Amino acid sequence: MEYDVYSVRKDFPMLNQQIYGRPLVYLDNGATAQKPLSVIECINNFHTSKNSTIHRGIHFFSEQATEEFENARKTVQQFIHAEKSSEVIFTSGTTGSINGLAWSFGERFISPGDEIIISEMEHHSNIVPWQMLCERKGAVLKIIPFNDDGTLEINKLDTLITVKTRLISVMHISNTLGTINPIRAIIARAHANDIPVVIDGAQSVQHTGIDVQKLDCDFFVFSGHKIYGPTGIGILYAKEKWLHELPPFQGGGEMVNVVSFQKTTYNEPPVKFEAGTPNYIGAIGLAEALKYLTKTGLSGIAKHENALLEYGSQKLSELDFITLYGQAPDKSSILSFNLKDVHHYDAGMIIDKMGIAVRTGTHCAQPVMQHYGISGTIRASLGMYNTQEEIDTLISAVKKVRDMFA
Ligand code: PLP
Repeated sequence: MEYDVYSVRKDFPMLNQQIYGRPLVYLDNGATAQKPLSVIECINNFHTSKNSTIHRGIHFFSEQATEEFENARKTVQQFIHAEKSSEVIFTSGTTGSINGLAWSFGERFISPGDEIIISEMEHHSNIVPWQMLCERKGAVLKIIPFNDDGTLEINKLDTLITVKTRLISVMHISNTLGTINPIRAIIARAHANDIPVVIDGAQSVQHTGIDVQKLDCDFFVFSGHKIYGPTGIGILYAKEKWLHELPPFQGGGEMVNVVSFQKTTYNEPPVKFEAGTPNYIGAIGLAEALKYLTKTGLSGIAKHENALLEYGSQKLSELDFITLYGQAPDKSSILSFNLKDVHHYDAGMIIDKMGIAVRTGTHCAQPVMQHYGISGTIRASLGMYNTQEEIDTLISAVKKVRDMFA
């Protein structure tokens, strides 16, 4: 079936409004995506007539909520093609997943002098937790650099890997440059050296889908709110063997087996890593979003978004007053740019007044800005409901900004 973006748009009530007297053009999907009605209704229904905490009660609603929560885990498992649903841990988001993992992995496997490799293009969420771990344990953070076109200098990986390398953590798709990183090659090289790999999928899973078994990554993390689901929920996927080896990163209710003042024993994964009352409604809402994407068809979505990216890149590169950042041959859904002699904030404020939501600033990737010697960019990040006409609106807004500053 042909992908029909106009019928998809009808599923997203947020898009159907005017700001400053103009139709909203929402191009900030990299920050957070809008939610289809099915997700909004699912969450609303749960609050209205099903709410009860999970795993704890024997009454009707608690059992029903537990079943829906565990079914949500299975939906995530199927969506990312994990071997077992117990390999799926619900967290608060990508940041929560990486912080938990960094603490846990660090406690078990990192000693002074050990090395962790990340890349120069990472989001702060995939830099700072590893930096904090390195400071705590006296370990060393090493960086894979990137070329000016936004491609990773993957050939440097072989010299960065040493006998002390304990972990590699890289983003699948850059939230600033749109680069699709060669994660299969990175994983293969890492595994050849017995090094586990974390993939930050915050910007990939909604565009490309994912098969964690084919990819063979050890860990994969993403956020619900960027994949058309609710905020405050995310996923830490881990291969089963790690979940038995790693200590829990939070203590509290439900993650335990027997508690006494002398000793506490832990529950089995995934519950071992889900201390306290989980965001069960978030998890159920996330599953609804994944069902929506599956029903709509991931390949149709990817084809549509790729066509938009190509169109937008072409239109922007025709403008001689624009600098585009991120021109990797393998790229997804992000248009990062600046206008000559115009500050990105000034441009962003004017673009906003034309009804267009773009992001301006460093996009939580200050090292990327440092690479180019700039203070920030304007970023249009595309989603499944964006249209070619919206790109045209962005282009005319950008031209207006140029005229105003001429
Ligand atoms: N990693 C990447 C690549 C991102 O783009 C983001 C958010 O923009 C994050 C991590 C952090 O995600 P969250 O704020 O949902 O935890």
